[in-house]
Amino acid sequence: MELNNLSAENAAKLKDLMERLIADSALMLGYPVSKDFDYAELAGFLNFPINNLGDPFVASTYNIGTREMEREVLEFFAELFRAPQNNWWGYVTNGGSEGNLYGLYLAREIHPKGMVYFSQATHYSVQKNLHLLNMPNIVIRTQASGEIDYEDLRDTIKMNRHMPVIIFANIGTTMTEARDDVSKIKQILQELAIQHYYIHADGALSGSYSAFIEPRPAFDFADGADSIAISGHKFIGSPIPCGVVVVKKNNRDRIARSVSYTGSMDTTITGSRNGHTPLFLWYMIKSLGLEGFKKRALHSLEIAAYAEMRLKEIGVNAWRNPDSITVNLPEPAPQVRVKWQLALENGWCHIICMPNVTKHQIDQLVGEIAEANVMLSVS
Ligand SMILES: *Cc1c(COP(=O)(O)O)cnc(C)c1O
Repeated sequence: MELNNLSAENAAKLKDLMERLIADSALMLGYPVSKDFDYAELAGFLNFPINNLGDPFVASTYNIGTREMEREVLEFFAELFRAPQNNWWGYVTNGGSEGNLYGLYLAREIHPKGMVYFSQATHYSVQKNLHLLNMPNIVIRTQASGEIDYEDLRDTIKMNRHMPVIIFANIGTTMTEARDDVSKIKQILQELAIQHYYIHADGALSGSYSAFIEPRPAFDFADGADSIAISGHKFIGSPIPCGVVVVKKNNRDRIARSVSYTGSMDTTITGSRNGHTPLFLWYMIKSLGLEGFKKRALHSLEIAAYAEMRLKEIGVNAWRNPDSITVNLPEPAPQVRVKWQLALENGWCHIICMPNVTKHQIDQLVGEIAEANVMLSVS
């Protein structure tokens, strides 16, 4: 078979696609994906059928993999999330949703008769995963900020005190990036004398950088979480969607099953697993280091504060949760919203100030919103 001999027509299609991606990337402020990565040094690894099938900590007879780097990535996050020493485990997932599914799966195995509680602002994928897992669940009200309503949580748990409690906490909701406070939740469980509980933290976006904020938001293992999932393609940045899930090892041991065909353990959701994405995450961790991560976080927070201020200056009713990189604003004119790919919910949009976002882009957007508002008031 001859390779690399596309027709002129198909080659042109690829060229068009490239141009469109370049143009659209420059105008993306509405979704939480970083675009400032440069993995060119890793291009050569596209020439291998890399597959980390099975458990990252158990070798497989399939040798073409990146397990060693995957383990270094996991160690980095286990430490960042203050996971119990010698009692943590994890793997690089296909994204935040898979990590959340995994956390809920463990919770169900530990508390088969448990009730799941999560707030109204929870990511849409969670309802589906609870359905897949056949777990009974109750939706809790949110405050206006998007943070869980602790009173409603307390009252609802009280009514179901006979059931183990499984909490699905949001460490940065999708729309307003509100953080549920894991230590407050834990306190409620203690006050109600709940004996059996499990807390999963969905840190898809904010979980990746919350450890760098002072004072540190309550979201990790030391605060009471039993598992944490993040997305890798959001704050860190990756050309392929990915994520990380970290759990307690003794909990994972309950579901471990060895498989003679691969030589490894069947401890993950999927069989074959992406071996390139651990490499991207590893590359970013090693080139940035903790200091570099922190810098990225502070940059994003600074840009978010700037965007909020600039929007307010032109009379837009913008607001932001504390220590968050998401700026909420009433829906701007449609041409502006579509151009900058701003997601819409109930008349509100958000700008997510990912590490690649610059003041220049914010100025451009604010200028266009101001101009559209002037035209509206004139017509
Ligand atoms: C993005 C997001 C998810 C899903 O993560 P994926 O990586 O897209 O699978 C889950 N929860 C929250 C809060 C998110 O923002």
